[in-house]
Amino acid sequence: MFLDVKSINTFYDVFHAIFDVSLCLDKGEVVCLLGRNGAGKTTTLTSIVGLNPPRSGSVTLNGVPISGKRAYQIARMGVGYVPENRWIISELTVRDNLELGCRRKSDTQIAAALESMYELFPRLKDLGHRVGGTLSGGEQQMLALARALVSKPELLLMDEVTIGLAPLVVQMLKSTILTLKQNRNTILLTEQNALFALDVSDRVYVIDKGAIVYDGTVDQVRKEHAVMSKYLGL
Ligand code: ATP
Repeated sequence: MFLDVKSINTFYDVFHAIFDVSLCLDKGEVVCLLGRNGAGKTTTLTSIVGLNPPRSGSVTLNGVPISGKRAYQIARMGVGYVPENRWIISELTVRDNLELGCRRKSDTQIAAALESMYELFPRLKDLGHRVGGTLSGGEQQMLALARALVSKPELLLMDEVTIGLAPLVVQMLKSTILTLKQNRNTILLTEQNALFALDVSDRVYVIDKGAIVYDGTVDQVRKEHAVMSKYLGL
């Protein structure tokens, strides 16, 4: 398995948020982690990227342990992260926000990397000199995704990318994720918008009260009416 999360337990101070969560992804898979508000989706992702390291259990990437490493080290090992609240630096231009994602590259490499992001998100090229704080929610989301992709991560984690966005932007994000999937990117995404996630994913994990309560393929979960209604509100 490319990403192997084994039995992690994560806390906020004394609050036990994640209970023995295990999940895995193969190279080239798109997998979603679904669940209600407060179920533990964000905490699972922040545990993997080292922002809130698990107190027990293990996380390996391509066989190499990453749990216990610092967040910047995990990023350098090829894990890209699109956080739920996007973390766009509002005083910096779109171009500067994107360059932040490039990390230690020559000017020529940066120019080529930015050009590849402008191909995927042509709107960002038009917005290059605008400061992040003046972008719409959808534009900020494109920028957050592009900033994570510009370093060509081996694994991309995306936290609730559709939240608060207009239906047209959600549709655009869906086709972007499907393009990434066609290009064999490996993606773990969390969503409360289960219909969106099922349309782009190969497999599903459902989390509730900090524990995984279901896993299966998208085709399997679509037939599990009890799971769909109890945990996903469908
Ligand atoms: P949402 O969709 O609302 O973001 P989620 O599924 O991502 O929900 P988490 O944010 O991972 O859920 O929260 C899991 C549990 O951890 C919840 O009970 C939440 O209240 C708690 N929690 C999250 N962040 C903190 C924090 N900084 N301090 C204390 N408890 C927290």
